[in-house]
Amino acid sequence: MVETKDTDFRIDIGKDGIAVLTWDMPARSMNVITERVMGELGAFIDRLESDEALTGAIITSAKPAFCAGADIAMLLGAGKRYEEAARSDERAATAALFEDMRSFSNLLRRLETCGKPVVAALNGTALGGGLEIALACHHRICADDRAIKLGLPESKIGLLPGGGGTQRLPRLMGAGDSLKLMLRGGSLDPDRARASGMIDEVVAARSLLKSARAWVESSADPVQPWDKDGFRVPGGTPYSPSGMMTWIAGNALYRKQTLDNYPAQRAIMSCVFEGLQVPIDVGLRIEARYFTSLLRNPVAGNMIRTFFFSVQALAKGARRPGGIAKSRLRKIGVVGAGMMGAGIAYVSAAAGLDVVLLDRDKAAAEKGRALSEKLVRGRIKRGQASEADLKAVLARIEPGGDYGLLKGCDLVIEAVFEDRALKDEIIAKVQAVTGKSVVFASNTSTLPITGLAESSLDPERFIGIHFFSPVHKMGLVEIIRGERTGDEALAVALDYVRAIRKTPIVVNDARGFYASRVVATYIEEGHRMLDEGVPPAMIENAGRLAGMPVGPLALNDEVSLDLSHKIAAAAKADLGADYVATPRERIIEEMVVGRGRFGRKNAKGFYDYNEDGGKRLWPGLEELQPERLDPDTLDVSRLCDRFLAAQALETVRCLEENILEDVREADVGSVLGWGFAPFTGGTLSYIDTMGPARFLALCEDLKADHGARFEPPALLRDMAAGKETFYERYAPPPARAAE
Ligand code: NAD
Repeated sequence: MVETKDTDFRIDIGKDGIAVLTWDMPARSMNVITERVMGELGAFIDRLESDEALTGAIITSAKPAFCAGADIAMLLGAGKRYEEAARSDERAATAALFEDMRSFSNLLRRLETCGKPVVAALNGTALGGGLEIALACHHRICADDRAIKLGLPESKIGLLPGGGGTQRLPRLMGAGDSLKLMLRGGSLDPDRARASGMIDEVVAARSLLKSARAWVESSADPVQPWDKDGFRVPGGTPYSPSGMMTWIAGNALYRKQTLDNYPAQRAIMSCVFEGLQVPIDVGLRIEARYFTSLLRNPVAGNMIRTFFFSVQALAKGARRPGGIAKSRLRKIGVVGAGMMGAGIAYVSAAAGLDVVLLDRDKAAAEKGRALSEKLVRGRIKRGQASEADLKAVLARIEPGGDYGLLKGCDLVIEAVFEDRALKDEIIAKVQAVTGKSVVFASNTSTLPITGLAESSLDPERFIGIHFFSPVHKMGLVEIIRGERTGDEALAVALDYVRAIRKTPIVVNDARGFYASRVVATYIEEGHRMLDEGVPPAMIENAGRLAGMPVGPLALNDEVSLDLSHKIAAAAKADLGADYVATPRERIIEEMVVGRGRFGRKNAKGFYDYNEDGGKRLWPGLEELQPERLDPDTLDVSRLCDRFLAAQALETVRCLEENILEDVREADVGSVLGWGFAPFTGGTLSYIDTMGPARFLALCEDLKADHGARFEPPALLRDMAAGKETFYERYAPPPARAAE
């Protein structure tokens, strides 16, 4: 009997009195938790409680996934309502937000205490609130499919699992394992989830409902373990001898992973620590309080805006010019099979494109292809790929030294040494084969695209596609429009980036574009500190404390010091008398030319690298310091301010100079491109959060102490005077549907 139509759930009640609640939201490809979903779920629970004919329930989904989590727009709506209400009465607004945020959690508590057995039949991925629904069921069965992900990713956007996840998961898996999962916002496949205690059974997809029904029929227990007398948390509570060990390690892990910059991770730790010492109802109340506090914290709003809405809008083609048909990309050429070219070949082949990979000769190109083999072998080891995948990827990459192989390519990307003359030569060689109609892209880090385009047969079909290293890990690609780059080339570049499933930003041409130019200020600030005599370890730790993924010296080692040296030489040659030398030049010259230290690539840079992958700061660095400062006289927070302010300020200059056109690209580019303190939401969100006026004052202060590089640009002064934020002045256009 089918009882409801045109709703988010369908209810089928069998003769045995078991209700199958099938989640299938109309006009959506994914089930998400909305107010309407909560309303329908609430009504179903009422019925389950009151209708004696119902003996139990199965919750499942008719979509490929079970549920992707809460509707983020709904959460942000609650945050906005709070902000407005708080202007007149903050206390009342906070209380209202708390009640609002508890409604989902209360609903799930009602589900698990309704007195009838409820089983989750997970046919597909269940994340966030979707998994929390399953956790509130008395039994969880999942289809046997390794692609299914079961996890709580909330911390990735500055939130915590607020539907009881921080309370039920540790009561099922133990504090340690559940914290590991929640702190990184991770997920498990069904087998791992069963082994950890998160779910109870894994069965073949076709027998999912049968197994669920069998469980309900086998006089299933409708009481959760934590609601029974004598319940013990796996691994013990925080004050038990075994539980205590979890917290010693857990606190260290938390500190290591977050450096205390992430309120969500801290709140998750507190929820579990406090919640495991009290009955679950109190634990759920504790969770709701922390959840409310996170929603009132700008970190969550900034992270959601950047990591969720902006990344999605850009990936869907927010910057793609309209009216141009989707490109048919089947075969691409990559010239230069070094670190970058090899990575570009891999991500392209992994996405199903045929790749011609050229280097000086076939042997060099084969070396580049070997990276793909290494990466897929790593995936096979981790159970993420098969031998067949390896064969397919390698078959798609044709290595060689003959430019004739480029015939039939739909796009060619060059990634040879950063040398203008060499790049000119490559452009000519490629276009002698492909002609001028095939879009030519350069992966140069710093050479202006407009200048390089002059060597091409058609500057309109010449563009920059700038990858980040390591290519297979980094999610961002910076597309650079030269002065004459046409819309078609831009569309092809964006379609290519979409095909390889990365996030593009589109910037206008200038030396260093956006990413290299801004990240250079971070590295340079590190060099300046070294020059000033700040202890190297303090420089590196301050960089990480500021929120950067690695210190500036470690980062320089990763991109390689000889590349920095080449970039400086190229800039010097191009700029002539306008070139301004900085302490960076002396240090890089000394490292590369004086000491033969090129960075990680030759295991010698600012760090010494061991064969086992470990590294230590090179003790000889002190010899490069004209003087050495006493660390006790230094203010670490000032060093952190210098790192973040230098980058944010350079971003404002990029906006002022029209290198950047869209605030979303500034933020997404900074966090995905070089890992600018993700908890800030990006370089411009960092300024907006403190307010342009406060940021202006910080820059003035830094300028007084450290020099003209902190001179605030006119745009910042103007914004500060007008009390406007960047997201107010440069509000992005409303989302456009994907093409
Ligand atoms: P790399 O030194 O690892 O590789 C360069 C490759 O070009 C080498 O394999 C070399 O043999 C090949 N090559 C040189 N002359 C050639 C020729 N005449 N014909 C064919 N191949 C030739 O350098 P990389 O780090 O991969 O950098 C390549 C480009 O990517 C540079 O323009 C660089 O600025 C840019 N880039 C580098 C990074 C980075 O982090 N390393 C990031 C983004 C962009």
